[in-house]
Amino acid sequence: MMPPYMFSFGLKKEMSSFLYGLIGVALAGFIVGWPATVTIVYLAGYTLWLLRRMDAIVHWLSEGGRANKAPPTTGLTNDMVQLIHREKKYSRKQKNRYRNTLAQFNSLAADLPDATVVLDKSFEIRWSNAAALELLNIHPDRDKGQRIDNLVRNPDFREFLHNGTDQDELEMQGTGSSAERIIAIRKVPTGKRMMVLIAADITQRVQVREMRKAFVGDVSHELRTPLTVIRGYLEMLQENESLDPQVSEALRQISAQSDRMRGIVEDLLQLSKLEGNPMADNEGDTLNVSAMIRSMVSTLHEANESDQFELALDESLAILGSEREIYSACQNLLTNAVRYTDPGTLISVSWQTNDAGEAVYKVADDGPGIEARHLSRLSERFYRVDSGRSRDDGGTGLGLAIVKHAAQRHGGQLSIESTPGSGSIFSITFPRSRCISMPQAINQ
Ligand code: ADP
Repeated sequence: MMPPYMFSFGLKKEMSSFLYGLIGVALAGFIVGWPATVTIVYLAGYTLWLLRRMDAIVHWLSEGGRANKAPPTTGLTNDMVQLIHREKKYSRKQKNRYRNTLAQFNSLAADLPDATVVLDKSFEIRWSNAAALELLNIHPDRDKGQRIDNLVRNPDFREFLHNGTDQDELEMQGTGSSAERIIAIRKVPTGKRMMVLIAADITQRVQVREMRKAFVGDVSHELRTPLTVIRGYLEMLQENESLDPQVSEALRQISAQSDRMRGIVEDLLQLSKLEGNPMADNEGDTLNVSAMIRSMVSTLHEANESDQFELALDESLAILGSEREIYSACQNLLTNAVRYTDPGTLISVSWQTNDAGEAVYKVADDGPGIEARHLSRLSERFYRVDSGRSRDDGGTGLGLAIVKHAAQRHGGQLSIESTPGSGSIFSITFPRSRCISMPQAINQ
């Protein structure tokens, strides 16, 4: 900020020269016998002289106010000119400082490994860096002023650009020389009129993810056959009634563990099929979810008579989806509500639309609940609050991961609320685009 300026010196000088002049002129007037006339002429002359000095300053400023062209001045007007000099010097310094900062920022942003494109509100390119040329084929000079959706011609990109939120990330193929690469694009809003697009090369990340998925899928698949053989022989051995009780018990244990292992293998296989594989919006069958829930609940109720089930189902609400996946997701939440609560628990199951018109499947129990620190990790593979209990009750630790990925494949999401001592609520929300009203939907 500019330091304050003190005028007093120029003003004093101006006043003293004016007053000395006035006294001198008045004396001269007395001597010549016309003091009033001489004084008036002096005052008029002084005012005119002052106005001329001011006019010279205005002219000087209108011609650019260059320091070497400044008009000769004294007193107050000299202060004015000095002040203008100072002001100009100060703003020149500021301008240089801004220019340097901008140059530094530009060179930093230009060298960023991530593609960075600054867009205005009509998606026209204002600035882009070298990485944008490599990943998105956007040239920093040639493409300035062009609409980005005219250059990056990908329907998913267009949809993301217009409707994606700041939290969304779009994964797509790169363009131009990077057509073989996979990039992740994010939007960063910068005020009302601008937006920054940042695209990172995630080819390696995706390759590792795909390799892991394929590996887990392959291993699970390979384990299926030997497990089936083991089970076959176990059943054969168990049929022998003359076995030593100790051997019998050992066989029972082996059989239970091989069942558990088969459960894990099946869940891992299911998970590897679900993960990172979203369904198209119009993919799937029309599912009568209410009927599905009623049948699940009645089977569970037969096996767990002490638990109470309370249903609130919108019979007219169907969704478009994969029957196997939706069944598995709904079943997982229901069996968890039975498995991780004590006998006699009240389990409320609802299938309704919410205010946003989305379909919500909700399973609430008044069981022991889950501590807040576990909630965000529950849908991770093999994460359990109480490993011992989960294993004893036949859990694989993969149930909620399956629910989460099945929901995501349908454009939905799993949410968990819980209060220790009061119970838990697990819900899956499916997007409006998948909801179908029964009369037009099915006649199952
Ligand atoms: P699992 O296959 O072992 O049941 P999940 O992924 O389905 O694994 O569940 C993860 C953990 O979440 C469980 O080990 C359990 O501790 C906890 N959990 C799930 N549902 C409930 C519930 N309704 N009440 C309390 N804890 C639950």
